[in-house]
Amino acid sequence: MLEEIPSKSIIIKQKHPEYWFGYDYNMNLYKGCFHGCIYCDSRSECYHIKNFDQISIKKNALSIIEKELRGFRHIGVIGTGSMSDPYNPYEKEYKLTKKALHLIEKYGFGVGIATKSNLVVRDKEILNKIQQKAPVIICLTITAADDEICKIIEPNVSLSSERFEVLRELSDEGIYCGILMMPLLPGITGNLENIREIISLAKKANVDFIYPSFGFTMRDGNREYLYEQLDKYYPGYKEKYIKLFGNDYSCHIPKANEISKVFKKECEQVRIIYKMDEIIAKSKEKVIRKQLSFF
Ligand code: SF4
Repeated sequence: MLEEIPSKSIIIKQKHPEYWFGYDYNMNLYKGCFHGCIYCDSRSECYHIKNFDQISIKKNALSIIEKELRGFRHIGVIGTGSMSDPYNPYEKEYKLTKKALHLIEKYGFGVGIATKSNLVVRDKEILNKIQQKAPVIICLTITAADDEICKIIEPNVSLSSERFEVLRELSDEGIYCGILMMPLLPGITGNLENIREIISLAKKANVDFIYPSFGFTMRDGNREYLYEQLDKYYPGYKEKYIKLFGNDYSCHIPKANEISKVFKKECEQVRIIYKMDEIIAKSKEKVIRKQLSFF
């Protein structure tokens, strides 16, 4: 049994939906994450999550969510996946995310999901149903085109190749989906070869968008974890990172501006959108409203 933690509210209103996929609200049904990504910002001390790698669930989550959905005056898009992957291994059994999606559909809200797990495909029917009335934005985070690198930096979750397959399947279903290409790590994934390969595989998977960030973040807690993993798998990199970034929070990959220009040009060539305002606008266009006319 997973530990249950008390929670008074779950869905939080967002001040700036235009900054992040049009999310009017955000929610996390689980606490902690087992996926073990070496760069994970969510394990930073500022979030005060003890034993980050252990997953717990929010007590009475579904009844709290239903009450909140019923009470909101503004019907908007609810995002999930910012602090904990909603498709962790326990979701198979607990189906908390799936049940929350049914509630979201019942009350006519839209949904945005960020995940690295192929389990999201299980919910394609309910996602399709939500998209009949409101925006759906499914983001698969993909930072490494190469599965061998993926195994090191994102060890406990679906391989990048499996995530591309998920995108293909969702896209075939008409579900609006794309790639979160972030964070990128200098000397590992922050290079043109990797980025070009991600664009090429994204095109094959027929994704709608790629939203990039050409760097990563470090704070107390996640910095130490990242350095431990670098020492284990990429000896000598920690010292290089310390020299390049010191105590910086926001860290850019070398030649970020030049790489960003190439990224944009190549996305335009293959008609994949990458600007946040365009991604949000297209999610609204994608809503397949039922015809109300009887004639
Ligand atoms: S999936 Fe997200 S929350 Fe989980 S470890 Fe990876 S980066 Fe952190």
